[in-house]
Amino acid sequence: MLKVIALSFFLQAQPFDILIQHARIVDGSGNPWYLGNIGIRGDTIAAIGPLDGAPAKLVIDAKGLTVTPGFIDIHTHARRGIFEDTAAQNYIRQGVTTLIEGPDGSSPLPLASFLQKIAETKIAPNFGMFVGQGSIRQQVLGLENRKATPEEIAKMKEIARQAMLDGALGLSTGLFYVPGNFTPTEEVVEIAKVVGAMGGIHISHMRDEAEGVMDSVRETIRIGEEGGLPTQVTHHKIIGAGNWGKSVDTLRLVEEARARGVDVTIDAYPYTASSTGTGALFPQWSLAGGQKAFLERLSAPEQRVKITAEIIRRIKVDRGGGDPKNVVMANCSFDPSLAGKSLAEITASRGRPATIENAAETAIEIQQKGGCSAVFHAISEEDVERILRSPYTMIGSDGEIPQFGRGAPHPRSYGTFARVLARYVRERKTLTLEDAVRKMSGYPADRLRLLDRGLLRPGMKADIVIFDAAKIQDKADYANPHQYAEGVREVFVNGELVISGGQLTKARPGRVINGRNR
Ligand SMILES: [Zn+2]
Repeated sequence: MLKVIALSFFLQAQPFDILIQHARIVDGSGNPWYLGNIGIRGDTIAAIGPLDGAPAKLVIDAKGLTVTPGFIDIHTHARRGIFEDTAAQNYIRQGVTTLIEGPDGSSPLPLASFLQKIAETKIAPNFGMFVGQGSIRQQVLGLENRKATPEEIAKMKEIARQAMLDGALGLSTGLFYVPGNFTPTEEVVEIAKVVGAMGGIHISHMRDEAEGVMDSVRETIRIGEEGGLPTQVTHHKIIGAGNWGKSVDTLRLVEEARARGVDVTIDAYPYTASSTGTGALFPQWSLAGGQKAFLERLSAPEQRVKITAEIIRRIKVDRGGGDPKNVVMANCSFDPSLAGKSLAEITASRGRPATIENAAETAIEIQQKGGCSAVFHAISEEDVERILRSPYTMIGSDGEIPQFGRGAPHPRSYGTFARVLARYVRERKTLTLEDAVRKMSGYPADRLRLLDRGLLRPGMKADIVIFDAAKIQDKADYANPHQYAEGVREVFVNGELVISGGQLTKARPGRVINGRNR
């Protein structure tokens, strides 16, 4: 008893650096909100409770507002832009305080020097990395479409081991992309074993998110099972109208795997369009070896016919969404004026009717010039909601840090987290506020074993968001993507205000999340 009194006296006497008062606390665990006050000292949550009137250098009144842990985005491409916008405003303004990079099989190598550069840059959010299986393979085999030799596999395992020593949180695969696509499952399992033994997880942009999505989920589960590590279907979606509804079955596969003890989870973004390079419309074999080899294949008539046929198929039943108007350019370095124009519009502007066949020719012309990033409208709302509702799904944007105003990028970079809270909590009531916050904070923190973040509890790092749950809103859409989300009033990263009263501050308190320190 004496001890308790002494402790509470100490808490009263020692002023907090910051006291957040009258907060509606949603703590990231999924539990219902409760009213309370939060005291912060340094970079840490020092106390939560009835701290009314406790001395503090700064008191913030959060009456009527919601206070949550900072959001953790488990799938970003934030190295695109973080050195230009060190505040990562598109993320910070949604309350995202930790960015995880290196997904889809792609990461810088070696990881150590990249993480060193992040640390030296001084950025607003925290920043962690996966190591990419595709990048490892490219370093050893280039973009070759063949099996690796035992010697090459040994080399790849060594690179993966070094990346884990450098601080990676796990292994990402992009089995859809070149060169990940050329990798047999057994080879991925070999690398995964090394990463798993060192405490990492596996996260996969699957081989096929359209017709072959069931087999791809099975493969992702198998990599976890045989590799002996947690495994995650990343940005889970069902592409192509003919496949819509299959999320019923993919979620069942996840349930069944979990029932037999496989640690498999999911992340997703809340949009019915995806975004990647226009190369996604091409057969992977046609892209093997790089651009020069691709151009050579196009000049061989027989191969060109095969390539065209596959592009037509992909426009009809896969990522093309059944119509060239559903493929919209985001950024084209060879011709920036194409941004925002669809494959149908570009085809028509060249004096050809916008048939699927003609659009395939346009796609080839674009790819010959180096390709564009594009937005592909080919996902159903029912699948999006079903996947979001799964208890095993967390939120990840798959976004980047766009150059403000440039091109027509997917709005997910600016809107993902605010959109979940606005559209899927407030408007459609797909999720409760508490569950949505769990999927953005406590759950990804658990998944990555970031055990001092993701929850509002004494002793945790003070990554905190204060927002108006009635007003938080994503503003970015496909036509006008360059719009920051609204409704977030304060954002703390490691105890420092990076958004104060809705305004960006000069603080850049983000830290490198090193997997070795978990
Ligand atoms: Zn991806």
